[in-house]
Amino acid sequence: MLRRIYVLILAVVVVAIVASGASAFFVIKSYHSQVSQEYLLNAARLIEQRLLAGDPQEQAAADISSVFQRDGEAIRVTLIHTDGTVVYDNFSDSTQMENHLYRPEIKAALQSQEAGFASRTSETLGQAMLYLAIFDPELNLVVRTSISYDIERSGYLSLLTTLLIVAGLSLVALLVIGYLALRQITRPLVELKQAANQVQQGDYQIRVGSLLDDKSELTDLGNAFNAMARQLSQTIQALEERNTRLDVILNSLVVPLIVAARSHDVIFVNRTAQDLFDRHLDPEQARFPLVLVTHHAQTEVLIDQCLQNNSPVSRELTITTVRGPRDYQVTASPIRYTNQDHVILTFLDISQSRQMQRLRSEFVANVTHELKTPLTSIRGFIETLRHGAIDKPAVARRFLDIIDIEAERLHQLISDILVLSEIEELKEDKDRQMFDLHALIDDVVVLLDDIASSRKISMVPEIDETAQMVSASPHRIKQVLINLIENAIKYNREGGRVEIHTRRLENGKLELRVRDTGPGIAPENQERIFERFYRVDTSRSRELGGTGLGLSIVKHIAQLYGGTARVESKIGQGATFIVELAI
Ligand code: ADP
Repeated sequence: MLRRIYVLILAVVVVAIVASGASAFFVIKSYHSQVSQEYLLNAARLIEQRLLAGDPQEQAAADISSVFQRDGEAIRVTLIHTDGTVVYDNFSDSTQMENHLYRPEIKAALQSQEAGFASRTSETLGQAMLYLAIFDPELNLVVRTSISYDIERSGYLSLLTTLLIVAGLSLVALLVIGYLALRQITRPLVELKQAANQVQQGDYQIRVGSLLDDKSELTDLGNAFNAMARQLSQTIQALEERNTRLDVILNSLVVPLIVAARSHDVIFVNRTAQDLFDRHLDPEQARFPLVLVTHHAQTEVLIDQCLQNNSPVSRELTITTVRGPRDYQVTASPIRYTNQDHVILTFLDISQSRQMQRLRSEFVANVTHELKTPLTSIRGFIETLRHGAIDKPAVARRFLDIIDIEAERLHQLISDILVLSEIEELKEDKDRQMFDLHALIDDVVVLLDDIASSRKISMVPEIDETAQMVSASPHRIKQVLINLIENAIKYNREGGRVEIHTRRLENGKLELRVRDTGPGIAPENQERIFERFYRVDTSRSRELGGTGLGLSIVKHIAQLYGGTARVESKIGQGATFIVELAI
């Protein structure tokens, strides 16, 4: 802009200088010509006067000519008769000169009775001349004065040169002054332009200062610009804050969330979903299809159904994630977004509840089965007694014994189920109390002594001083000890040995170890024996009066006390059950 204004002003000034120079030149030139005419006229009039006074022609011409000199050059004087004959000329021999009747200045002087003026090349002298002629009727002569035109022209030329030098100098001065002045004037505008460029490049903190300094019309513009930049900066900041907040909220959601378009292209994936599906792509960089994330074509079908019904649609799908294949309740909800149809997909992990459901139904089936077996047996023996066996006292007594054993098993089973469900319900044990663990172990050893002796099994408690006093429910710890020691006796060889160790671990927990000299447990069963109703040998367990719930109860009690239960065993080398408890 500065350049355009500069060029414009320059053009105006040049035109002005040229126009004023030219007009000055022509005015001066015409003035100069006027002066020359006056000069020649005065000389001619004086000669006329001298001739009228009776002075000889030569004398009058020579006197006046010597007075009227220009640049050292005397004027030429010519006297012409009315018939055109030259009677006198101070520069040439008049007798040699041709008739001058038709010279323009002579003709004009004779015709108008006033002064005639002409400028042309003299035929006599062969040079450019200015002529002035007056006619005197009394003398009957035309008095003509003339001077060389070169003198006249050199006057113009020196004037023109002066004019050109002055114009040139003024132009240079104007160029410099104009440039500096313009720069000063346009400086705020240049600053404004630079500030606007900065804003365009995203620097909303920029403000203009010089516009405000000069208190001109630009001050308002500067204030308006600053207000606009401030407003823009605030708006952008507010928008950025909102965006960040939204981003943080969506990415902090523990629920995996994906937004997809009607085309099945992903628009947004929150961090939980990115981690879950191990796809760390940014849809803002390049769109990609939903199936690339979920690896399940049904998720795209859900989008179609959701948009078709214009309402949320849910389906349970098994989807492979970083955690392996898991069950998800996938919900697709429609959203309208800039006139386009988009869908929010959320993924709710229902694997655990499904697993719980499965376990619950398995448990119910197992319980039913376990209850049915002794009941069927009891009813069978009662039927047999009814049909006559009751009359045979020896048989009847044996049958009653069997019924008693089965009833006891039923009782044991029901009480184990009740214990298990009671422990499962508990989040923590509220009945903790300090008690002597050694004394409790002694009690249990005494309690189980009969069964152990019947199989010639010795029980050896090895007790550590540091693990004497513990804080727990003695009733539950007794349950753990009975279940483990009874199993160690039951699944032992005759004449075997059961060792009971207790010690305090470095992490402060109490470790309880029950080691036997039985057949041991195969590696594939070591995890599973802690499941409800799982037995390695069902008929042997039943025969020994087992319910298949003992170890499950041990594991749950260990968990209740923030601990674990596990087994270490090698086939043929006995088994060691290790329980850690924070008691
Ligand atoms: P059960 O009432 O059948 O004993 P448990 O839950 O106590 O039920 O044990 C589950 C299964 O684990 C048993 O049926 C048995 O097969 C196996 N088991 C438990 N303790 C031992 C052990 N000390 N040695 C070998 N096998 C064992």
